[in-house]
Amino acid sequence: MRACIHRGASEIGGNCVEIESQGARIVLDIGRPLSATDDDDVPLPPVPGFEAPDAGLLGVLISHGHQDHWGLVEQLPPGVPLYAGQATCAILREAAFFTRGVDLKPAGFLVHRQPFGLGPFTITPYLNDHSAFDTYSLLIEADGRRLFYSADLSGHGRKAGIFEELLRRPPQDVDVLLLEGTSVLAGAGERPESSLSESALEEDCVRFFRETTGMALVSYSAQNIDRLVTLYRAARRSGRMLVLDLYTASVARATRNEKIPHPGPDWPLVAVYVPMAQRIKVKEAGEFECVQDIKGARIFEEELAREPQRYVTKLHSQTAHALAKHGGLVGARAMWSLWSGYLDEPSAQRLRAYLEGQGVPWRSTTPRDTPVSPTSSAWRRRSRRSELFPSTPSEEVGSPNTSTT
Ligand SMILES: [Zn+2]
Repeated sequence: MRACIHRGASEIGGNCVEIESQGARIVLDIGRPLSATDDDDVPLPPVPGFEAPDAGLLGVLISHGHQDHWGLVEQLPPGVPLYAGQATCAILREAAFFTRGVDLKPAGFLVHRQPFGLGPFTITPYLNDHSAFDTYSLLIEADGRRLFYSADLSGHGRKAGIFEELLRRPPQDVDVLLLEGTSVLAGAGERPESSLSESALEEDCVRFFRETTGMALVSYSAQNIDRLVTLYRAARRSGRMLVLDLYTASVARATRNEKIPHPGPDWPLVAVYVPMAQRIKVKEAGEFECVQDIKGARIFEEELAREPQRYVTKLHSQTAHALAKHGGLVGARAMWSLWSGYLDEPSAQRLRAYLEGQGVPWRSTTPRDTPVSPTSSAWRRRSRRSELFPSTPSEEVGSPNTSTT
């Protein structure tokens, strides 16, 4: 078995690892680099079967639904078999309607600790704790050798238990470990912004919601199910309802997990406000079913503005404008619960300026409010790799010409 890391070793994300055995190949992730802008043309890595059909390419396995792990999948020629988790596929389908996603049409699903065969390879997925729902590590076996690809994983999310299980019952006799290391630090005293646990964040949100006299507005990713659960729990503990937008509500339903807060009779503290852009999108596409599905939980700006202290509402610029029109921002406070690097984007800057103009104080969920660029963090980590992992080769890793046997 040979492995070639095409991308993702010297940068955050953009992962793509090709594995070969007996002339057959599989590929782990096909990510779009985080450093690429929307306008950048990112070529596919030079894998036979990526340009033109090649019978030796048995499949591409997508570990989870973050774009830096699947973002180039639409550039593949038709017919390449794709594998991912069932919920990941459903969430990416919803995302494709509202923003950026994809209808994968998978050849098979990844299921926790259920091995399956592809040619000479035996693949065992391991469900992970990560901000993307339904994330898997992958154990690849062939020719009597074992490679474990961690993909993105953490131990401080809502599924920390599954990480503990991985530590308790790890795959045995692994020859090669490919380990995600975005936030790997040397000492316990060092705390990256992303290491604030979801339960610590929940306590912080409870305090923030209780101290806010009007509406609590929170900006977060619709696909971050852990964060959704955290905000729901904090809202409930503060005597408030959680108001989702239509996209977040659709993603929550797509998980098909009854334990995830979603609009419906079992979740009376979940409401849905549909911002104007989403109303237009539904109308133009004629997808009235997704609005019909949340009908019982739907709430409008007039109602939100009447008793703003009762709600924790997903923050959009259109929602803020609609609320302001009805006097719903009196006493409001806003919280930024996305990666701080996104604050550099013009849309975030405009939103922040608008809210501050409306007298709405703004804070971040992370301890620091300093934007960090992927380039600078990647550079910092690379410079420390030899210090943190002295036995791991560094400079040559990441070259498409490098393979390990
Ligand atoms: Zn990820």
